[in-house]
Amino acid sequence: MNILVLNSGSSSLKYQLFDMNTEQVMASGYIEKIGIPGSTITHKRPGIDKIFLEQDIADHGVAIETMVAALTSPEHGVIQSMKEIDAVGHRVVHGGTAFIKACLIDEQAINTLESLTEMAPLHNPAAVKGMRACQEKIPGVPMTVVVDTAFHQTMPRSSYMYGLPYEYYEKYQIRRYGCHGTSHRFVAQRCAELLGRQDCKIITCHLGNGSSLAAIKNGEVQDTSMGFTPLAGVVMGTRTGDFDPSLVPYIMEKENLTPAQMSDLINKKSGLLGLSGVGSDLRDVVEAAKNGNDRAKMALEVFVTTVVRFIGAYAAELNGVDAIVFTAGIGENSVPMRRAICQHLSYLGADFDEEANECAGEEKEISKPGSKTKIYIIPTNEELLIARDTKELVESLKK
Ligand code: AMP
Repeated sequence: MNILVLNSGSSSLKYQLFDMNTEQVMASGYIEKIGIPGSTITHKRPGIDKIFLEQDIADHGVAIETMVAALTSPEHGVIQSMKEIDAVGHRVVHGGTAFIKACLIDEQAINTLESLTEMAPLHNPAAVKGMRACQEKIPGVPMTVVVDTAFHQTMPRSSYMYGLPYEYYEKYQIRRYGCHGTSHRFVAQRCAELLGRQDCKIITCHLGNGSSLAAIKNGEVQDTSMGFTPLAGVVMGTRTGDFDPSLVPYIMEKENLTPAQMSDLINKKSGLLGLSGVGSDLRDVVEAAKNGNDRAKMALEVFVTTVVRFIGAYAAELNGVDAIVFTAGIGENSVPMRRAICQHLSYLGADFDEEANECAGEEKEISKPGSKTKIYIIPTNEELLIARDTKELVESLKK
């Protein structure tokens, strides 16, 4: 069975085609600057060099056509026609309370996703564009939606309710939803396999440009650090993470900012970028700190403290922890950040192994043998999980 996984952004489209008999990627690609001058396509297939093309791509419909042309091309394609694709799995960021697992895309599902636009204004409309384009350009291929918020829907109300008047929950569905759910689910499942049991307590740390942590008990999320939107939680590349909400009206008044400008400030100009003044990419901040930049050093200290704070809070909420998992760009690759975080975990019985930590991008235990609480690096693979969910759903419909 061949499953195509699509991740549509407002001006981008990522695709991965999986052979689900082997779970190997047959081809993948990235189309950037859709609807913007200078669009580019990067297409990869095992055994050939990356292909990079510059070609104007007016909208998501043209992007899908371009992807189809790349996948079926006699020189660098891997299939002869789209009939060889059994299903398409779409990644969607926000599913509100409507999506608790993968489901088939029909008009009702698309309308529900559109109705959630306010909760993910950058992401959901883009995903819907991708779905509409597929309906038009590759009709007849079953499509599923796998939603990032779905995994967090097991949270108890004690974790997802805010201390706001209840009417806002009723009127506007204001509550914690969380994000990166597909990633947390992938690494938590793998961690349970490594531990050799399902009844376990795991804290997953997805640390990348956007970062979130999740407290998971017996495979179900008990709490997570992102909130109504992906702004909440730990300090991120350009996002504040948690801060005193009274500062919103305070800064708006002092700086004479509109709500849109304030939203821009806390989403795009804060975090590592705002603190360090260097940039949002962790590697740049680490480099600047090494060269003596004190603000860069401070930004890293704040990042580490916020992560350590959530690990502590979640260990308490779970009443113990069997394993802590690091994943995503920073979690998988940054030796100094993992070291700085893990130096605060001995009270949990996590015996950090400095030497094992000297690695990047590979699955590995980085606690010492016999450590009561295990620490793992587990590379995430959201696309594979979307492909697995899609396969399972499509097969169940055939029965
Ligand atoms: P992501 O959002 O998961 O793609 O992660 C992006 C973040 O991971 C950026 O802050 C990068 O600086 C960081 N990152 C990626 N690769 C490395 C690496 N080799 N070493 C340290 N940080 C990295």
